[in-house]
Amino acid sequence: MAATAIVTTKGLRRWESGHPWIYRSDVADRPQSEAGVVMVTDSRRRSLGWALWSPRSEISLRFIERDTDVPIDGDWWRQKIERALSRRVGLDTVTNAYRIVHGEADGCPSLVVDRYDRWAVIQLMSAGLETFRNEIVDAIVHVARVDGILARNDVALRSKEGLPRETVVLHGDVPHEIEVDEYGVRYMAAPFTGQKTGAFLDQRENRHLAGGVSKGIALDCFSYHGSFALHLAAGADEVIALDSSAQALERAKQNAAMNGISNIDFVEANAFDFLKEKEGEGARFDTIVLDPPAFAKTRSTIPAALRGYKDINMRAMRLLSRGGTLFTASCSFHLSKALFLEMLEAAAADSGRRIALREIRGQPLDHPEVLTIPETGYIKGALLEALD
Ligand code: SAH
Repeated sequence: MAATAIVTTKGLRRWESGHPWIYRSDVADRPQSEAGVVMVTDSRRRSLGWALWSPRSEISLRFIERDTDVPIDGDWWRQKIERALSRRVGLDTVTNAYRIVHGEADGCPSLVVDRYDRWAVIQLMSAGLETFRNEIVDAIVHVARVDGILARNDVALRSKEGLPRETVVLHGDVPHEIEVDEYGVRYMAAPFTGQKTGAFLDQRENRHLAGGVSKGIALDCFSYHGSFALHLAAGADEVIALDSSAQALERAKQNAAMNGISNIDFVEANAFDFLKEKEGEGARFDTIVLDPPAFAKTRSTIPAALRGYKDINMRAMRLLSRGGTLFTASCSFHLSKALFLEMLEAAAADSGRRIALREIRGQPLDHPEVLTIPETGYIKGALLEALD
């Protein structure tokens, strides 16, 4: 007999309105069992489905299956991952690195699986999920046919689940650098030490878009290992790739060399200072990209984050040449789409320039967003054009 959790009416409503998380305060009767999978019922003992159970987390339950007649076993995980992979069909014609499982948006709460060529980098981010580690690894090997799997389980979220933070190889061998091809641009991902699972796969299509409109003198602020800059280089005469991290820029240089690109200058600087200084000099750029780290890490920091976003965007708008384009993004989950656009309107109003919104952008196909699960969406982007 599986252990059972009983949820409150509030918890039930949340599940019925399409969100798989049940918080600690919405569990009326907690299962007397270790982390794993448990059956969930409402207060009248009506079965609601299976959920992953995390005894130590604030998010106690994560629903994974409505039908309690279906066992959560190796076959179940295989089918889930097969289905997720089938939602990415076509992506492998433009890249060899993409997300196979985007957690809740693929019905696999707290699981991330990214493909990097013949290897997978995964993140198991709840205690309940961790108990299915072997089944998940087997399913990925079987379905995605990878030679090795690395777990980047070094994320802070794991501590909240009472799980160790570690980076471990779970299957085969995984190289420290993997060559990624993204619309013909190549770069090295660093699965063991790079940001996220080794690279920012979530901006792939936006990098391709920015590359397509790139011209003249281009500036890629917050460049990391050069990802946008490499795309801008084809259409632009010159590109400045700017980042505050010397280490990131070192890798950006290697990536440029790997592509035979020689029109990128690498500048180690604080983007806020650089943009201000260039504005003071009356400089002009024909193409600008702003892809900063998340300024709003929590809800309470939204006001300060908005000031930061507005500052860099207003200055970038002022730096645009006539007809120049700015691709700007925010990856702060706490900053809504509406607030992002409002911020851009305010920045445009204060920039003294007339700015057109040419395209609103979001997440790529391999990072699907579920409308009733806000946590699955975090990237907002806009392609802007200076009209005068
Ligand atoms: N555009 C990149 C991802 C950027 S991640 C891509 O598509 O892959 C954010 C980057 O901003 C990091 O490399 C970090 O080193 C850099 N960064 C953070 N604060 C900065 C600042 N104030 N000025 C310049 N770079 C900064």
